[in-house]
Amino acid sequence: RLLVLGNAGIDLLCPVPHLPRAGETLVADGQARAPGGKGLNQAVVAARAGAAVQFTAPVGRDGAAEELRAILGAEPFAGLSLLPQDAPTDLSLLMVARDAENCILTLGAAADALSVQEAEAAAAGLGPEDMLLLQGNLSFTATEAAMRAALARGARVMLNTAPLRWDMAPLLPLCALVVANAGEAESLTGRRAAAAAEALHRAGAACAVVTLGADGCVSAGAAGHHHHPAQPVAAVDTTGAGDTFCGVLAALLLAGHTLPAAAKRAQRAAALTVSRPGAFAALPSAAELRALFAG
Ligand code: ADP
Repeated sequence: RLLVLGNAGIDLLCPVPHLPRAGETLVADGQARAPGGKGLNQAVVAARAGAAVQFTAPVGRDGAAEELRAILGAEPFAGLSLLPQDAPTDLSLLMVARDAENCILTLGAAADALSVQEAEAAAAGLGPEDMLLLQGNLSFTATEAAMRAALARGARVMLNTAPLRWDMAPLLPLCALVVANAGEAESLTGRRAAAAAEALHRAGAACAVVTLGADGCVSAGAAGHHHHPAQPVAAVDTTGAGDTFCGVLAALLLAGHTLPAAAKRAQRAAALTVSRPGAFAALPSAAELRALFAG
């Protein structure tokens, strides 16, 4: 079983003629609503990739939470727990100008409100065959509590360092696997690419993967570091690439694939996400993932 403990929210995507200036009231060219959040995206991809996923996420007591419950009910989760908080459901406002520049405003009060007790309770059902996957949207204290509860039950912990909002260094020794993108890895270690992956490993992660966009990814662990080339693709919108990568990687590692084999498939899946617009809308379907794993 894979427990994904992370954020879930609504993305409001608005095409705009230009990004807003101070004091300006801007009329959008349109609007589209979609489910979003790194926790949600990664849980959805992992479930579509065939893992038995329990997705646990803090939400508000509002219509947006009901909207999420309805949408997520159609995903192949083994379990879904949306935990009501005394805060509105998380919301991201994405403005995309005609020149493709964007500006994103994120409200994460529900994600921040998840308590240490709720995080520990979420991990209480884990066992030695299981994995816990986390991102950076929850508070440091809730994240650390969930990790320690999972480790106490013999489960493996995987951490995606996005978004980098608080110091993740103390958590690295708790991780079987850390996945960071190039920017996060450089912020955490002061190094780049393979050197950054090696540094994350030395800082305590049993294995570290640094993703490098079109240049693929590098992994580092006890056996040194390796480069894994990306699947070449005409990039349309890279939003969601990291989430697709993490979701597939977690699902396949849990299913017993080696890291090189899992990384290869995760990168093929991420290339698919990159080849089309949007975040949630661009995530690969279960059928697409089956076809891609068979090839
Ligand atoms: P993030 O989206 O978290 O910033 P990256 O941009 O590093 O992460 O992308 C994650 C993975 O998605 C990469 O390791 C790669 O496999 C794939 N990917 C991202 N951008 C491209 C691209 N332009 N072409 C092909 N694959 C890509």
